[in-house]
Amino acid sequence: MTEPKTTIDKLIDERSLSLEEYESLVAGYSPETAAYAAQKACEIRQSIYGNAVFTRGLVEISNYCKNDCLYCGIRRSNRSAVRYRLTREQIEACCDEGYSLGFRTFVFQGGEDAFFGDDFMCGLLASVKGKYPDCAVTLSLGERSRESYKRMFDAGADRYLLRHETADESHYGKLHPKEMSFSNRIKCLYELREIGYQVGCGFMVGSPYQTYATIAKDLKFIETFKPDMCGIGPFVPHHETPFASQKAGSAELTCFLLSLIRLIHPPVLLPATTALGTIDGRGREKGILAGANVVMPNLSPVSVRKKYELYDNKICTGDEAAECRACLARRIESTGCYLAVDRGDIKK
Ligand code: SAH
Repeated sequence: MTEPKTTIDKLIDERSLSLEEYESLVAGYSPETAAYAAQKACEIRQSIYGNAVFTRGLVEISNYCKNDCLYCGIRRSNRSAVRYRLTREQIEACCDEGYSLGFRTFVFQGGEDAFFGDDFMCGLLASVKGKYPDCAVTLSLGERSRESYKRMFDAGADRYLLRHETADESHYGKLHPKEMSFSNRIKCLYELREIGYQVGCGFMVGSPYQTYATIAKDLKFIETFKPDMCGIGPFVPHHETPFASQKAGSAELTCFLLSLIRLIHPPVLLPATTALGTIDGRGREKGILAGANVVMPNLSPVSVRKKYELYDNKICTGDEAAECRACLARRIESTGCYLAVDRGDIKK
């Protein structure tokens, strides 16, 4: 069998491996291999972005959702979720506070909530971009029509996050209800790119029914799609979902995959996610040390934070935005990096 380090060196040279090579690299995880990949990933990140870690202010605009993803705490079948939607004034107030704290990217994320139609979103985007032309706005509102994506892009949206969730169609079917499809998810990603968005895909690590073979397909998809952003974080069970008793993904494997993704696509913007910080007290720092270069602290009003509960025990739900930012700045500095006041666009 080929030594894992040899495979990693090949990945660095060629930015590509076969599905079989990806699978055996991931299956052969060891702390030594992960440390080697992390060292290489940080060198590459450093050569492109220096020590800057970019930050995005996350505004969770609604937890109403028409979908029923089996893993997600705000799925429509969760009758015990306390639903909320922010008003336009509340969302804009989050941006005002975020701007004064040094955020230059705002992410509007939510369930698939018909209330946030194109007219509402375009009005909001025009207003936020008019007030803060030096900021980027990222949307993460799930699957919409091409026309809708286009209208929001024309109104000022810069980026769109839509995790592919898994690049294996049959695995996708085990995580989602039958009215959702892998092909539509992928179609949306390509449409977003064609329209002109900077696009983010991504997946959960350790989701139910995931295998080393499905992870290999995720890495292959990232290698071919070359996303501008890639969100990966551990699956964390939520007590009111069909996956309540499944086990969470591991921080170690998540960090190893962060390193591999950095090596596959060096300029990618790669967050150390809140889910990673949830399963491990130093998860976000470990993510940065594995090659991540983005953090996405919460800017939502404290009154709604606990309600946007995608998974159990989500961290930072009680802290004011300013406290979150200060705490994260300290955490990032402990890794030798610093929090940049910058839009943090991809360097191509
Ligand atoms: N409705 C939007 C935003 C979804 S929430 C959309 O469809 O894109 C953002 C991400 O949270 C999801 O893409 C999913 O990968 C992740 N997520 C949802 N439930 C989770 C859980 N139980 N554990 C970890 N991550 C989860």
